[in-house]
Amino acid sequence: SYPLVQVEGLKKYFTVGDKKLKAVDGLNLDIFEGETVGLVGESGCGKSTAGRTMIRLHEPTSGQVLYNGKNIFDKSERDMSRLRKEIQMIFQDPYASLNPRMTVEDIIGEPFAIHHTLGGKKKKERIKELLRLVGLQADHISRFPHEFSGGQRQRIGIARALALDPKFIVCDEPISALDVSIQAQIVNLLKDLQQKMGLTYLFIAHDLSMVKYISDRILIMYLGKMIELAASEELYEDPLHPYTKALLSSVPIPDPEVKRERIILKGDVPSPIDPPSGCVFRTRCPAAMDICAQVVPVWQEVRTGHFTACHLYQ
Ligand code: SF4
Ligand code: MG
Repeated sequence: SYPLVQVEGLKKYFTVGDKKLKAVDGLNLDIFEGETVGLVGESGCGKSTAGRTMIRLHEPTSGQVLYNGKNIFDKSERDMSRLRKEIQMIFQDPYASLNPRMTVEDIIGEPFAIHHTLGGKKKKERIKELLRLVGLQADHISRFPHEFSGGQRQRIGIARALALDPKFIVCDEPISALDVSIQAQIVNLLKDLQQKMGLTYLFIAHDLSMVKYISDRILIMYLGKMIELAASEELYEDPLHPYTKALLSSVPIPDPEVKRERIILKGDVPSPIDPPSGCVFRTRCPAAMDICAQVVPVWQEVRTGHFTACHLYQ
């Protein structure tokens, strides 16, 4: 397996008044073909902006993203349009991302129209095939979004993302707006589709409750910074960073034998316009030391394949 997506020193700053909002402040990540990387952090940590910049829905402030070895930000508009077939996005809110006045046929068929690929009868057949692929009935093709449940609507969003046979999909909190009972179904569907179609995912989530079931590796972000990266199992069994430990402590454990102490973090996430000096997590960290206010902790590999940025390990 080779890295399909290579993110190198990616930064995305926004200007707010005369200040800089560092939404993504130095992201380095390889995503291998066929892999799912979970990207987890509280709202406002920059994970959506990171995902969007990785597929060039934003231009970066600096850094690059190589897709199949080539920097996507160097691509001409025409090459980018070609690439847009291969990289797709699934959104958090299926209610907001589907046009209520369009039929399922028009919604799923839109990518074919934009890229001038299929038309007529072939298009209709392909749309029906996509509906079956995501577990919906092919004869629902003329229905409107309001005639479906939340989970079904997310399936329509997934079918649309699959229309052009993509390779890489950024899933931006695709289950956060759904009932817990439906979340597992959508995760299982995404896993099935990954196997069938050889997909590579970036799976964005705001907590660690479901992300384990789909991710091979998980990256934790906080205030635009990378906090910890490890294989899923390792991250759940042996987290290093105090922030990861706090996030994990709020995940319900099905096994009543296992006890985990709940870590309640003090205060709120500081404003990304005015982040703390040194370690960005220090204002809420139960383990903070003097050095944490002065020195930015270095990102380093503490164990094989397990990275974190924290003075406790330096
Ligand atoms: Fe806590 Fe310091 Fe580690 Fe930051 S560097 S997480 S403040 S111990
Ligand atoms: Mg978001």
